[in-house]
Amino acid sequence: MLKDAKKILNQYFGYSSFRHGQSQIIELLLAGNNSLGIMPTGGGKSICYQVPALLLNGTAIIISPLISLMKDQVDSLTSLGISATYINSSINHTEQRERLQRLRNGDYQLVYVAPERFESTEFISSLRTITLSLIAFDEAHCISQWGHDFRPSYRQIIPNLQQLGQLPPLIALTATATDKVVQDIQQLLDIQPTHIVSTGFARDNLAFNIVKGSRKDDFILDYIKERYKEAGIIYTPTRKTTDALYEVLQKAGYKVARYHAGLTETERQEAQTAFIQDESLIMVATNAFGMGIDKSNVRYVIHYALPMNIEAYYQEAGRAGRDGEPSDCYLLFSPQDIQLQKFLIEQSMMDEEKKQQEYEKLQSMVNYCHTHQCLQTYILDYFGDQTNYEDCGKCSNCLNSGEQVDMTKEAQMILSCVKRMDERFGATLTAKVLKGSKSAKVLELNFQRLSTYGLLSSYKEKEITHLINYLAADGFLAIHDAKFPKLKLTKLAYDVLTGQKQVWMQIASKKTNEQTDYHEGLFESLRNLRKILADERKLPPYVIFSDATLKEMSRLLPTDKAKLLQIKGVAEKKYEQYGEDFLEAIEQFINENEQIEPILAPTINLPNDHIVKHDETEAHDKPSYLITYEAFQQQSIQEIAQERNLTEMTIESHLFKAVKEGLELEWTKFFSSDDEKLILHTYQSLEEKKLKQLKEKLPEGISYTAIKAVLIKNDLM
Ligand code: ADP
Ligand code: MG
Ligand code: ZN
Repeated sequence: MLKDAKKILNQYFGYSSFRHGQSQIIELLLAGNNSLGIMPTGGGKSICYQVPALLLNGTAIIISPLISLMKDQVDSLTSLGISATYINSSINHTEQRERLQRLRNGDYQLVYVAPERFESTEFISSLRTITLSLIAFDEAHCISQWGHDFRPSYRQIIPNLQQLGQLPPLIALTATATDKVVQDIQQLLDIQPTHIVSTGFARDNLAFNIVKGSRKDDFILDYIKERYKEAGIIYTPTRKTTDALYEVLQKAGYKVARYHAGLTETERQEAQTAFIQDESLIMVATNAFGMGIDKSNVRYVIHYALPMNIEAYYQEAGRAGRDGEPSDCYLLFSPQDIQLQKFLIEQSMMDEEKKQQEYEKLQSMVNYCHTHQCLQTYILDYFGDQTNYEDCGKCSNCLNSGEQVDMTKEAQMILSCVKRMDERFGATLTAKVLKGSKSAKVLELNFQRLSTYGLLSSYKEKEITHLINYLAADGFLAIHDAKFPKLKLTKLAYDVLTGQKQVWMQIASKKTNEQTDYHEGLFESLRNLRKILADERKLPPYVIFSDATLKEMSRLLPTDKAKLLQIKGVAEKKYEQYGEDFLEAIEQFINENEQIEPILAPTINLPNDHIVKHDETEAHDKPSYLITYEAFQQQSIQEIAQERNLTEMTIESHLFKAVKEGLELEWTKFFSSDDEKLILHTYQSLEEKKLKQLKEKLPEGISYTAIKAVLIKNDLM
């Protein structure tokens, strides 16, 4: 059965292999089980029901909360030669009738509906007359009252479903589900625990970045100067900021759209369409924008200010890179932004308890801006994702992790100062005391008498505040009373004060520039061609081919039908419609550029699904980690990093990946056998098996690299 599924995937969608999780879910469905799939945004949830819908007898009903997404999905399917439609309130009654009639005739393989449709008796009785292949609940967290987007109409479906009598397999899909929500979905849709497939929440094509202390408008202008051909979203905290930034960008000559709740319905609609059609590449918006936007080629999402919590941040930032191509997420942080969020919480109608919860969530968001941990890991920890990930190797913290410095002494001074100030004050005043400031507040409270007064006078006050924030972010200090923050010592803090624990901080180093691994000129002209074809057909450009597909064309330069069909995302039907046009454009590019050659080895961070298997169909696309592995036989990590323009951390992770794939590594290049023994011994003695704890217990000379290598060699990581 799975073989047939793979065939469909290839024939209709042009993909050569399933992504992580997809095949498990499809197998469950094909075997007639109800199932729940939890995958991150862009993980490929649609394929999980689309492929079975094509394989199984009958019509598939897809329940989706977002009317605006249905048309897109249906357009995409139709362009692949699949018979699909949607029935919702955006079409008039006559049209609805017609589509219902065709549904009863069994004309459609997939029908998208909003949950409210199940309240129509005509719809229910139509369903009773036909064979259903499956019923899919997209964005299934909406069904749970614990979910953050609870929709009562989603829940109402359940009793109405009973009226159908015999039910086809049900499939629920979501990217966000806490344990509570999972249990709820499971119970409502009668899903057995073994029929839940979760791939974790990691988005490995996204590079998370925090930017501090730069002028925000300048940062944005600088950033988009390099990216003016790519689509991105800039989230601003208020309508006023949206308008202001919109003007700045417009004055600078960019094609920019804006979106916020203060605009008219028409204005918003126009802005959204312009963005989806690649007319305006930059969207400046408040968080009102984005629900129901499935645009897959958003290359960056910038947050102009601190969002309210990690949930909101991950959802908004996650709108970048749905197509799996490397994309950037930037958060421009300045401490003043916290005030706005607090104000919003304070002004809200929530009761005290709920407000307190929101303050705590806000604090986790602030901590995200101060942590020195891998940013992706921080987010995954926040969501309680138990999967054992390596650090991402491309967030601003991973890339800055050049050097670790022992800051234990400074930390001790800060912690004892907090203690001496009775744990009643925030970071600003504590920094002043440590700096030895003569500010009125300090003198008024007589803090110049404290033994910790002026202990860190060699640091700038700003640096001390930074250190304090870092200690709070990594759990040495707790922030008590989020509204008027007061620093408090934690258990960890006492370990530091008694010398049982060290504190390490990273010293920033410069981020290396990424190098593209495709012919940019060709990508450019293919993108233009796509735009023209899209406009002719009134389709969003990414429905024709995704950025990922165009980049692969620009890398491999296919010159005939067979080669073009091997490109990810090009299948027979697509070839029929657009193949020749694209081949022609590639041909032309080759003619205009002498000595141009396919780039066989991608050189930048690839999304995971490129790396997993050595499938013969993907032989042309040598995985990056293997290139590294081969080079490592002759060269050092530093040399390879330099030559491939990647960070040493990435090179390391390539090598470790190679080991996990079963290749041999010369371990003596990483550690001596004595070190190995020591590391293993220390590891055994740890209560909490965490890398950081391990590093801290070991002598200074033993590097993170050595530790990781030992753990990997011994299958402990
Ligand atoms: P989700 O609903 O999980 O956010 P989508 O179903 O919209 O994600 O898919 C995201 C992108 O991934 C789409 O562009 C889709 O075509 C692509 N995709 C899905 N499955 C595969 C696959 N097996 N191989 C390559 N690309 C895929
Ligand atoms: Mg989806
Ligand atoms: Zn990282």
